[in-house]
Amino acid sequence: ATPTSIMVGTGRAAELGVLFRKGEALQALRDVSVVALDKTGTLTKGRPELTDLLPADGFSHDEVLALVAAVESRSEHPIADAVVVAATQRGLDVAAMEGFEATPGFGVAATVGGRRVAVGADRFMTRLGLDVGAFQTAAQRLGAEGKSPLYASIDGRLAAIIAVADPIRETTAEAINALHALGLRVAMITGDNAATAAAIARQLGIDEVAAEVLPDGKVAALKTFRANGARVAFVGDGINDAPALAEADVGLAIGTGTDVAIEAADVVLMSGDLRGVINAIALSHATIGNIK
Ligand code: ADP
Ligand code: MG
Repeated sequence: ATPTSIMVGTGRAAELGVLFRKGEALQALRDVSVVALDKTGTLTKGRPELTDLLPADGFSHDEVLALVAAVESRSEHPIADAVVVAATQRGLDVAAMEGFEATPGFGVAATVGGRRVAVGADRFMTRLGLDVGAFQTAAQRLGAEGKSPLYASIDGRLAAIIAVADPIRETTAEAINALHALGLRVAMITGDNAATAAAIARQLGIDEVAAEVLPDGKVAALKTFRANGARVAFVGDGINDAPALAEADVGLAIGTGTDVAIEAADVVLMSGDLRGVINAIALSHATIGNIK
């Protein structure tokens, strides 16, 4: 493509709310055959709600919720907000806590009223030496419903299984259909558990899934979609998406996402959702495709 056609293409894109931070990205997008998407905050709203809390024998629902909310009151993870909101809505007292510890990709822990409380993924409980097998059936059911199971422990005992659900954005299904109509493969990369990720992928018709990816593992997950020399675009919004946005053949950041993601991206989607991806790819086909 000529510099002039790139300028015209990126100018037209800007009118559609797609900012090309690098002109070459318009050309690179033409050759993309796989679009990999972060789940939380990209496919979904990134604002999960607490949907279930099943206490283990010897624990009560509200006791666990209040203690877990006290721990989460210090966390900035979207899951933390869901827990605190649920406790507040039930009129529970969110007590003070101390000794807060966050383990990215695993969960959080703190001491509340002298009791050590931890909440997070199944792998977090395993790391704490707890067996979550007692909740296996519940976890499978919740995952199949597209909810993300979490676990709470209190003083070294498994206290509850908790589920949060993050609503899918209204525009996501349409955007994925449009990507398929352009002949592209669509993949999902998420730190969420495999059953939940699979349920959401099935619902949206997503072709491939990399689940239970740790925060520093998104680049490696992205590389698995490069089979047979496929060029991969990655779309994300979070701090932990930045390395994958930089590594992808084209990195596209959700405009309402974190500054770190936007800095790492080649393209910024100002609409704050996936419709911009379709506009960006359609424009690259129109601009570059005609000139080649
Ligand atoms: P994602 O963006 O997919 O949620 P993260 O790496 O942020 O990926 O988190 C991975 C998993 O770790 C979460 O799905 C959850 O199970 C657990 N986790 C992380 N932080 C918290 C928290 N503050 N409260 C509960 N669970 C957490
Ligand atoms: Mg995200």
